[in-house]
Amino acid sequence: MHRKLSAEDAAFQQRMRDFFTHQVPEELRQGPSRRELSPEDQRTAQRLLNSHGLAVPAWPLEWGGQDWSTLQHHIFREEMQLAGFPMPLAFNVNMVGPVIATFGSEEQKQRFLPATANLDIWWCQGFSEPDAGSDLASLRTSAVRDGDEYVINGQKTWTTLGQYADWIFVLVRTDPEAPKKQQGISFVLVDMQDPGVTVRPIKLIDGGHEVNEVFFDNVRIPADQLVGEENKGWNYAKFLLGNERVGVAPVGSIKRILAKAKTFAKSVATDQGTLLDDPLLRTRIADLESEVLALELTVLRVAGSSKEGKPDPASSILKLRGSQLQQDILELITDIAGPAGLRWSHPDDSEVPDWAEVANPTYLNYRKASIYGGSNEVQRQIISTGILGLKG
Ligand SMILES: Cc1cc2nc3c(=O)[nH]c(=O)nc-3n(C[C@H](O)[C@H](O)[C@H](O)COP(=O)(O)OP(=O)(O)OC[C@H]3O[C@@H](n4cnc5c(N)ncnc54)[C@H](O)[C@@H]3O)c2cc1C
Repeated sequence: MHRKLSAEDAAFQQRMRDFFTHQVPEELRQGPSRRELSPEDQRTAQRLLNSHGLAVPAWPLEWGGQDWSTLQHHIFREEMQLAGFPMPLAFNVNMVGPVIATFGSEEQKQRFLPATANLDIWWCQGFSEPDAGSDLASLRTSAVRDGDEYVINGQKTWTTLGQYADWIFVLVRTDPEAPKKQQGISFVLVDMQDPGVTVRPIKLIDGGHEVNEVFFDNVRIPADQLVGEENKGWNYAKFLLGNERVGVAPVGSIKRILAKAKTFAKSVATDQGTLLDDPLLRTRIADLESEVLALELTVLRVAGSSKEGKPDPASSILKLRGSQLQQDILELITDIAGPAGLRWSHPDDSEVPDWAEVANPTYLNYRKASIYGGSNEVQRQIISTGILGLKG
Protein backbone atom coordinates (compact mmCIF):
# COMPACT_ATOMS: atom_id res chain seq x y z
CA MET A 1 0.00 0.00 0.00
CA HIS A 2 1.23 3.51 -0.82
CA ARG A 3 1.57 5.63 2.29
CA LYS A 4 2.41 8.83 0.48
CA LEU A 5 -0.51 11.22 0.28
CA SER A 6 -1.59 12.73 -3.04
CA ALA A 7 -1.03 16.48 -3.40
CA GLU A 8 -4.73 17.05 -2.75
CA ASP A 9 -4.78 14.91 0.39
CA ALA A 10 -1.53 16.42 1.64
CA ALA A 11 -3.09 19.88 1.28
CA PHE A 12 -6.18 18.65 3.12
CA GLN A 13 -3.98 17.29 5.90
CA GLN A 14 -2.14 20.60 6.18
CA ARG A 15 -5.44 22.47 6.35
CA MET A 16 -6.67 20.22 9.16
CA ARG A 17 -3.33 20.46 10.98
CA ASP A 18 -3.39 24.26 10.79
CA PHE A 19 -6.94 24.31 12.06
CA PHE A 20 -6.40 22.01 15.03
CA THR A 21 -3.08 23.49 16.06
CA HIS A 22 -3.59 27.21 15.36
CA GLN A 23 -7.30 27.97 15.16
CA VAL A 24 -8.58 26.28 18.31
CA PRO A 25 -8.03 27.66 21.81
CA GLU A 26 -5.01 26.12 23.52
CA GLU A 27 -6.99 25.41 26.70
CA LEU A 28 -9.28 23.05 24.79
CA ARG A 29 -6.37 20.79 23.84
CA GLN A 30 -5.62 18.02 26.29
CA GLY A 31 -2.33 18.00 28.12
CA PRO A 32 -0.77 14.87 29.55
CA SER A 33 -1.95 15.43 33.08
CA ARG A 34 -5.57 16.24 32.45
CA ARG A 35 -7.95 13.58 33.76
CA GLU A 36 -11.11 14.43 31.87
CA LEU A 37 -12.90 17.13 29.96
CA SER A 38 -15.72 19.06 31.51
CA PRO A 39 -19.07 18.85 29.73
CA GLU A 40 -18.69 22.55 28.96
CA ASP A 41 -15.34 21.91 27.22
CA GLN A 42 -17.04 19.21 25.20
CA ARG A 43 -19.84 21.55 24.19
CA THR A 44 -17.47 24.40 23.34
CA ALA A 45 -15.34 22.08 21.21
CA GLN A 46 -18.33 20.67 19.35
CA ARG A 47 -19.79 24.12 18.65
CA LEU A 48 -16.46 25.34 17.39
CA LEU A 49 -16.30 22.43 14.97
CA ASN A 50 -19.89 23.06 13.92
CA SER A 51 -19.23 26.72 13.20
CA HIS A 52 -16.49 25.57 10.78
CA GLY A 53 -18.67 22.90 9.15
CA LEU A 54 -16.58 20.15 10.74
CA ALA A 55 -18.93 18.78 13.41
CA VAL A 56 -20.52 15.90 11.53
CA PRO A 57 -18.52 15.29 8.34
CA ALA A 58 -19.79 11.71 7.94
CA TRP A 59 -23.47 12.69 7.94
CA PRO A 60 -25.43 13.26 4.71
CA LEU A 61 -24.49 16.54 3.02
CA GLU A 62 -27.87 18.17 3.63
CA TRP A 63 -27.44 17.70 7.39
CA GLY A 64 -23.93 19.10 7.67
CA GLY A 65 -21.86 16.29 6.18
CA GLN A 66 -18.81 16.74 3.98
CA ASP A 67 -18.14 15.17 0.64
CA TRP A 68 -14.84 13.68 1.81
CA SER A 69 -13.13 10.47 0.84
CA THR A 70 -12.62 7.76 3.41
CA LEU A 71 -8.99 8.78 3.63
CA GLN A 72 -9.92 12.40 4.31
CA HIS A 73 -12.24 11.35 7.13
CA HIS A 74 -9.34 9.42 8.59
CA ILE A 75 -6.95 12.38 8.22
CA PHE A 76 -9.49 14.67 9.89
CA ARG A 77 -9.87 12.35 12.91
CA GLU A 78 -6.15 11.73 13.13
CA GLU A 79 -5.23 15.43 13.09
CA MET A 80 -7.87 16.16 15.73
CA GLN A 81 -6.49 13.41 17.97
CA LEU A 82 -2.85 14.28 17.39
CA ALA A 83 -3.59 17.83 18.49
CA GLY A 84 -5.33 16.57 21.64
CA PHE A 85 -8.58 18.26 20.57
CA PRO A 86 -11.68 16.77 22.25
CA MET A 87 -13.22 13.99 20.19
CA PRO A 88 -16.86 14.77 19.31
CA LEU A 89 -19.38 13.04 21.56
CA ALA A 90 -19.74 9.64 19.91
CA PHE A 91 -23.35 9.17 21.05
CA ASN A 92 -24.34 12.23 19.02
CA VAL A 93 -22.03 12.16 16.05
CA ASN A 94 -21.39 8.47 15.36
CA MET A 95 -24.45 6.81 16.86
CA VAL A 96 -27.87 8.44 17.08
CA GLY A 97 -27.21 11.15 14.46
CA PRO A 98 -26.57 8.73 11.59
CA VAL A 99 -29.51 6.54 12.70
CA ILE A 100 -31.95 9.47 12.65
CA ALA A 101 -30.47 10.77 9.37
CA THR A 102 -30.88 7.34 7.76
CA PHE A 103 -34.04 5.89 9.30
CA GLY A 104 -35.83 8.80 11.05
CA SER A 105 -38.89 10.70 9.82
CA GLU A 106 -38.47 14.10 8.19
CA GLU A 107 -39.92 15.70 11.32
CA GLN A 108 -37.37 13.88 13.51
CA LYS A 109 -34.53 15.00 11.25
CA GLN A 110 -35.59 18.64 11.46
CA ARG A 111 -36.16 18.46 15.17
CA PHE A 112 -33.07 16.55 16.26
CA LEU A 113 -30.24 16.67 13.73
CA PRO A 114 -29.15 20.34 13.94
CA ALA A 115 -29.35 20.25 17.76
CA THR A 116 -27.45 16.96 17.83
CA ALA A 117 -24.68 18.29 15.59
CA ASN A 118 -24.29 21.41 17.75
CA LEU A 119 -24.47 19.48 21.04
CA ASP A 120 -27.54 21.49 22.05
CA ILE A 121 -28.88 18.03 22.82
CA TRP A 122 -26.49 15.73 24.67
CA TRP A 123 -27.42 12.10 23.96
CA CYS A 124 -26.66 8.94 25.89
CA GLN A 125 -27.06 5.32 24.83
CA GLY A 126 -29.64 3.09 26.54
CA PHE A 127 -28.90 -0.33 25.11
CA SER A 128 -27.34 -2.56 27.81
CA GLU A 129 -29.28 -3.97 30.72
CA PRO A 130 -28.45 -6.31 33.56
CA ASP A 131 -28.45 -9.72 31.73
CA ALA A 132 -28.44 -8.08 28.31
CA GLY A 133 -24.97 -6.87 27.35
CA SER A 134 -23.27 -9.17 24.85
CA ASP A 135 -26.61 -10.92 24.51
CA LEU A 136 -28.29 -7.60 23.78
CA ALA A 137 -31.35 -9.10 22.11
CA SER A 138 -32.42 -10.47 25.53
CA LEU A 139 -33.27 -6.97 26.70
CA ARG A 140 -36.43 -6.66 28.79
CA THR A 141 -37.19 -2.94 29.03
CA SER A 142 -40.68 -2.76 27.57
CA ALA A 143 -42.62 -0.15 25.63
CA VAL A 144 -46.36 -0.69 25.44
CA ARG A 145 -48.42 1.34 22.99
CA ASP A 146 -51.23 3.31 24.65
CA GLY A 147 -53.05 5.51 22.12
CA ASP A 148 -50.59 8.10 20.85
CA GLU A 149 -47.98 7.19 23.44
CA TYR A 150 -45.64 4.43 24.50
CA VAL A 151 -45.30 3.55 28.18
CA ILE A 152 -41.76 2.45 29.07
CA ASN A 153 -40.72 0.32 32.05
CA GLY A 154 -37.37 -1.26 32.82
CA GLN A 155 -33.71 -0.62 33.57
CA LYS A 156 -30.62 0.21 31.54
CA THR A 157 -27.07 0.01 32.84
CA TRP A 158 -23.53 1.27 32.06
CA THR A 159 -25.08 4.43 30.59
CA THR A 160 -21.99 6.52 29.87
CA LEU A 161 -22.24 10.22 30.81
CA GLY A 162 -25.98 9.80 31.39
CA GLN A 163 -25.67 12.36 34.18
CA TYR A 164 -25.10 15.09 31.56
CA ALA A 165 -27.52 13.83 28.94
CA ASP A 166 -30.63 15.66 27.77
CA TRP A 167 -31.97 12.71 25.75
CA ILE A 168 -31.39 8.96 25.63
CA PHE A 169 -31.83 6.62 22.66
CA VAL A 170 -33.25 3.37 23.93
CA LEU A 171 -33.81 -0.14 22.68
CA VAL A 172 -37.14 -1.40 24.01
CA ARG A 173 -39.17 -4.57 23.64
CA THR A 174 -42.39 -3.82 21.79
CA ASP A 175 -43.39 -7.38 20.85
CA PRO A 176 -42.70 -9.97 23.55
CA GLU A 177 -44.37 -12.66 21.37
CA ALA A 178 -42.11 -12.21 18.31
CA PRO A 179 -40.81 -15.57 16.97
CA LYS A 180 -37.19 -14.36 17.29
CA LYS A 181 -36.24 -12.05 20.14
CA GLN A 182 -34.45 -9.70 17.68
CA GLN A 183 -37.76 -9.12 15.89
CA GLY A 184 -39.63 -7.60 18.82
CA ILE A 185 -37.33 -4.66 19.54
CA SER A 186 -37.83 -0.95 18.73
CA PHE A 187 -35.60 2.13 18.83
CA VAL A 188 -37.09 5.09 20.70
CA LEU A 189 -35.96 8.56 21.81
CA VAL A 190 -36.64 9.66 25.38
CA ASP A 191 -36.25 13.04 27.08
CA MET A 192 -34.25 12.48 30.28
CA GLN A 193 -36.44 15.06 32.04
CA ASP A 194 -39.60 12.99 31.52
CA PRO A 195 -41.34 11.95 34.75
CA GLY A 196 -40.30 8.40 35.72
CA VAL A 197 -36.69 8.58 34.42
CA THR A 198 -34.12 8.14 37.22
CA VAL A 199 -30.32 8.20 36.81
CA ARG A 200 -28.18 6.52 39.47
CA PRO A 201 -24.35 6.77 39.41
CA ILE A 202 -22.05 3.72 39.30
CA LYS A 203 -18.80 4.58 41.12
CA LEU A 204 -15.62 3.33 39.48
CA ILE A 205 -12.34 2.01 40.89
CA ASP A 206 -10.39 4.92 39.33
CA GLY A 207 -12.44 7.29 41.50
CA GLY A 208 -14.44 8.69 38.59
CA HIS A 209 -18.13 8.78 37.71
CA GLU A 210 -18.75 8.15 34.05
CA VAL A 211 -21.35 5.38 33.98
CA ASN A 212 -24.85 5.12 35.41
CA GLU A 213 -27.93 3.02 35.82
CA VAL A 214 -31.07 4.49 34.25
CA PHE A 215 -34.52 3.43 35.43
CA PHE A 216 -37.80 3.87 33.54
CA ASP A 217 -40.91 3.80 35.67
CA ASN A 218 -44.07 4.23 33.57
CA VAL A 219 -42.35 6.81 31.37
CA ARG A 220 -44.75 8.10 28.72
CA ILE A 221 -43.37 9.26 25.38
CA PRO A 222 -45.22 10.45 22.27
CA ALA A 223 -45.41 7.64 19.69
CA ASP A 224 -43.67 9.88 17.13
CA GLN A 225 -40.44 9.40 19.11
CA LEU A 226 -40.21 5.91 17.67
CA VAL A 227 -37.44 5.84 15.03
CA GLY A 228 -38.31 4.01 11.80
CA GLU A 229 -40.73 1.12 12.10
CA GLU A 230 -41.93 -0.62 15.24
CA ASN A 231 -40.09 -3.92 15.87
CA LYS A 232 -37.30 -3.04 13.41
CA GLY A 233 -35.05 -1.53 16.08
CA TRP A 234 -32.54 -4.38 15.89
CA ASN A 235 -31.63 -3.40 12.32
CA TYR A 236 -31.00 0.20 13.36
CA ALA A 237 -28.96 -0.98 16.36
CA LYS A 238 -26.73 -3.13 14.11
CA PHE A 239 -26.19 -0.15 11.80
CA LEU A 240 -25.27 1.99 14.82
CA LEU A 241 -22.89 -0.58 16.31
CA GLY A 242 -21.04 -0.82 12.99
CA ASN A 243 -20.39 2.94 13.16
CA GLU A 244 -19.48 2.69 16.84
CA ARG A 245 -16.69 0.23 16.10
CA VAL A 246 -15.16 2.34 13.34
CA GLY A 247 -14.65 5.12 15.87
CA VAL A 248 -13.00 2.91 18.48
CA ALA A 249 -9.57 2.71 16.84
CA PRO A 250 -8.39 6.23 17.64
CA VAL A 251 -5.03 5.98 15.87
CA GLY A 252 -4.13 9.64 16.36
CA SER A 253 -4.74 9.45 20.13
CA ILE A 254 -2.83 6.20 20.36
CA LYS A 255 0.15 7.78 18.57
CA ARG A 256 -0.01 10.83 20.82
CA ILE A 257 -0.03 8.75 24.01
CA LEU A 258 2.85 6.62 22.75
CA ALA A 259 4.87 9.76 21.93
CA LYS A 260 4.15 11.00 25.43
CA ALA A 261 5.28 7.69 26.92
CA LYS A 262 8.69 8.38 25.37
CA THR A 263 8.78 11.87 26.88
CA PHE A 264 7.85 10.45 30.27
CA ALA A 265 10.55 7.77 30.04
CA LYS A 266 13.09 10.45 29.21
CA SER A 267 12.14 12.38 32.34
CA VAL A 268 12.89 9.44 34.66
CA ALA A 269 16.58 9.39 35.70
CA THR A 270 18.39 6.06 36.05
CA ASP A 271 22.00 5.06 36.80
CA GLN A 272 22.64 4.83 33.05
CA GLY A 273 20.95 8.09 32.05
CA THR A 274 17.18 8.00 31.62
CA LEU A 275 14.63 5.23 31.35
CA LEU A 276 14.46 5.90 27.60
CA ASP A 277 18.02 4.55 27.31
CA ASP A 278 16.94 1.19 28.69
CA PRO A 279 17.16 -1.40 25.87
CA LEU A 280 14.18 -3.43 27.08
CA LEU A 281 11.97 -0.38 27.27
CA ARG A 282 13.16 0.76 23.84
CA THR A 283 12.27 -2.63 22.38
CA ARG A 284 8.83 -2.45 23.93
CA ILE A 285 8.27 1.01 22.44
CA ALA A 286 9.51 -0.12 19.01
CA ASP A 287 7.14 -3.11 19.07
CA LEU A 288 4.23 -0.86 19.96
CA GLU A 289 5.13 1.61 17.21
CA SER A 290 5.04 -1.20 14.64
CA GLU A 291 1.67 -2.33 15.95
CA VAL A 292 0.30 1.21 15.71
CA LEU A 293 1.47 1.42 12.11
CA ALA A 294 -0.23 -1.87 11.29
CA LEU A 295 -3.42 -0.64 12.92
CA GLU A 296 -3.28 2.59 10.96
CA LEU A 297 -3.03 0.73 7.67
CA THR A 298 -5.93 -1.49 8.69
CA VAL A 299 -8.03 1.54 9.61
CA LEU A 300 -7.43 2.97 6.15
CA ARG A 301 -8.58 -0.27 4.56
CA VAL A 302 -11.68 -0.68 6.74
CA ALA A 303 -12.86 2.90 7.38
CA GLY A 304 -16.30 3.80 6.14
CA SER A 305 -17.34 0.24 6.66
CA SER A 306 -21.04 0.41 7.45
CA LYS A 307 -22.53 -0.35 4.05
CA GLU A 308 -26.24 -0.50 3.23
CA GLY A 309 -27.14 -0.65 6.88
CA LYS A 310 -24.91 -3.65 7.51
CA PRO A 311 -21.76 -3.31 9.58
CA ASP A 312 -18.60 -4.64 8.00
CA PRO A 313 -17.25 -7.43 10.23
CA ALA A 314 -13.77 -6.02 9.59
CA SER A 315 -14.67 -3.13 11.90
CA SER A 316 -14.39 -5.73 14.69
CA ILE A 317 -10.66 -5.93 13.96
CA LEU A 318 -10.35 -2.22 14.65
CA LYS A 319 -12.27 -2.54 17.89
CA LEU A 320 -10.09 -5.44 18.98
CA ARG A 321 -6.69 -4.04 18.06
CA GLY A 322 -7.52 -0.43 18.96
CA SER A 323 -8.57 -1.38 22.48
CA GLN A 324 -5.63 -3.76 23.00
CA LEU A 325 -3.10 -1.18 21.88
CA GLN A 326 -4.58 1.55 24.05
CA GLN A 327 -4.33 -0.79 27.02
CA ASP A 328 -0.78 -1.88 26.18
CA ILE A 329 0.45 1.71 25.95
CA LEU A 330 -1.24 2.73 29.20
CA GLU A 331 0.36 -0.29 30.85
CA LEU A 332 3.72 0.88 29.53
CA ILE A 333 3.16 4.33 31.05
CA THR A 334 2.19 2.73 34.37
CA ASP A 335 5.47 0.80 34.31
CA ILE A 336 7.42 3.95 33.44
CA ALA A 337 5.78 5.76 36.39
CA GLY A 338 6.72 2.87 38.70
CA PRO A 339 6.29 3.68 42.40
CA ALA A 340 5.59 7.35 41.57
CA GLY A 341 2.27 6.17 40.11
CA LEU A 342 1.08 4.96 43.48
CA ARG A 343 0.08 8.45 44.57
CA TRP A 344 -3.47 9.25 43.43
CA SER A 345 -4.34 12.42 45.24
CA HIS A 346 -2.60 15.65 44.47
CA PRO A 347 -1.29 17.82 47.31
CA ASP A 348 0.04 21.12 45.92
CA ASP A 349 3.59 20.50 47.13
CA SER A 350 3.81 17.00 45.59
CA GLU A 351 7.00 16.24 43.70
CA VAL A 352 5.24 13.51 41.75
CA PRO A 353 4.66 14.76 38.19
CA ASP A 354 1.06 15.01 37.02
CA TRP A 355 1.48 12.37 34.34
CA ALA A 356 2.70 9.80 36.89
CA GLU A 357 -0.16 10.58 39.21
CA VAL A 358 -2.80 9.86 36.56
CA ALA A 359 -0.98 6.81 35.15
CA ASN A 360 -2.66 4.22 37.35
CA PRO A 361 -6.22 5.57 37.32
CA THR A 362 -5.99 5.95 33.53
CA TYR A 363 -4.66 2.41 33.16
CA LEU A 364 -7.54 1.09 35.29
CA ASN A 365 -10.12 3.22 33.49
CA TYR A 366 -9.13 1.84 30.08
CA ARG A 367 -9.75 -1.74 31.08
CA LYS A 368 -13.20 -0.70 29.86
CA ALA A 369 -12.03 -0.43 26.25
CA SER A 370 -12.07 -4.20 25.70
CA ILE A 371 -15.62 -4.45 27.08
CA TYR A 372 -17.69 -1.54 25.79
CA GLY A 373 -18.81 -1.36 22.18
CA GLY A 374 -19.07 -5.17 22.30
CA SER A 375 -16.56 -7.22 24.29
CA ASN A 376 -13.38 -8.41 22.59
CA GLU A 377 -14.35 -12.08 22.94
CA VAL A 378 -17.48 -11.32 20.96
CA GLN A 379 -15.45 -9.39 18.34
CA ARG A 380 -13.25 -12.45 17.90
CA GLN A 381 -16.34 -14.51 17.18
CA ILE A 382 -17.55 -11.98 14.60
CA ILE A 383 -14.10 -12.10 12.94
CA SER A 384 -14.00 -15.89 12.97
CA THR A 385 -17.43 -16.35 11.42
CA GLY A 386 -17.84 -13.13 9.39
CA ILE A 387 -14.32 -12.86 7.93
CA LEU A 388 -12.61 -16.21 8.28
CA GLY A 389 -15.78 -18.17 7.57
CA LEU A 390 -15.20 -20.56 10.46
CA LYS A 391 -18.22 -22.43 11.77
CA GLY A 392 -18.61 -22.18 15.57
C1 LIG B 1 -17.19 1.65 30.72
C2 LIG B 1 -18.37 1.11 29.99
C3 LIG B 1 -19.23 1.98 29.36
C4 LIG B 1 -20.36 1.50 28.72
N1 LIG B 1 -21.24 2.40 28.16
C5 LIG B 1 -22.41 1.95 27.68
C6 LIG B 1 -23.41 2.89 27.24
O1 LIG B 1 -23.21 4.11 27.27
N2 LIG B 1 -24.60 2.41 26.82
C7 LIG B 1 -24.86 1.07 26.75
O2 LIG B 1 -25.95 0.70 26.31
N3 LIG B 1 -23.95 0.16 27.15
C8 LIG B 1 -22.74 0.57 27.62
N4 LIG B 1 -21.80 -0.33 28.07
C9 LIG B 1 -22.16 -1.76 28.08
C10 LIG B 1 -21.32 -2.63 27.19
O3 LIG B 1 -21.73 -2.55 25.87
C11 LIG B 1 -21.45 -4.07 27.78
O4 LIG B 1 -20.79 -4.04 29.03
C12 LIG B 1 -20.85 -5.10 26.88
O5 LIG B 1 -21.66 -5.28 25.75
C13 LIG B 1 -20.63 -6.45 27.60
O6 LIG B 1 -21.82 -6.87 28.20
P1 LIG B 1 -21.89 -7.32 29.73
O7 LIG B 1 -21.20 -6.26 30.55
O8 LIG B 1 -23.34 -7.63 30.05
O9 LIG B 1 -21.02 -8.63 29.86
P2 LIG B 1 -21.47 -10.12 29.48
O10 LIG B 1 -22.12 -10.13 28.14
O11 LIG B 1 -22.20 -10.72 30.63
O12 LIG B 1 -20.06 -10.80 29.34
C14 LIG B 1 -19.28 -11.23 30.45
C15 LIG B 1 -18.05 -11.95 29.90
O13 LIG B 1 -18.44 -13.06 29.09
C16 LIG B 1 -17.89 -12.93 27.78
N5 LIG B 1 -18.85 -13.42 26.78
C17 LIG B 1 -20.15 -13.06 26.66
N6 LIG B 1 -20.70 -13.69 25.60
C18 LIG B 1 -19.73 -14.43 25.04
C19 LIG B 1 -19.68 -15.29 23.91
N7 LIG B 1 -20.74 -15.48 23.12
N8 LIG B 1 -18.50 -15.90 23.64
C20 LIG B 1 -17.38 -15.69 24.40
N9 LIG B 1 -17.39 -14.90 25.49
C21 LIG B 1 -18.53 -14.27 25.80
C22 LIG B 1 -17.66 -11.44 27.61
O14 LIG B 1 -16.69 -11.17 26.64
C23 LIG B 1 -17.20 -11.04 29.00
O15 LIG B 1 -15.84 -11.30 29.19
C24 LIG B 1 -20.63 0.11 28.68
C25 LIG B 1 -19.76 -0.77 29.32
C26 LIG B 1 -18.64 -0.28 29.97
C27 LIG B 1 -17.73 -1.26 30.66
